[in-house]
Amino acid sequence: MKHAVEPAITGSLSIFERSCGYCGARFRVLATQVPDHPHREEYACPECGKCYAAEASAEPEVQLLRPRTDGKNDQYQETMF
Ligand SMILES: [Zn+2]
Repeated sequence: MKHAVEPAITGSLSIFERSCGYCGARFRVLATQVPDHPHREEYACPECGKCYAAEASAEPEVQLLRPRTDGKNDQYQETMF
């Protein structure tokens, strides 16, 4: 039997890479975008948890490409002002 993964939302898949400005980790972001339903969804750095936002119709999938480079183990803390 063929194993097919049916996406819940049909749209274009936007794949991009970015580096975390906090810990230096590098990761790939897979965001599904439906033109008629513009959205901003948050995704977190897999290493420190710092949140970023991308235009996507569902929570983007994040794949770690390179571990953090700051040599720490702490989690990013959002500072509220
Ligand atoms: Zn990070």
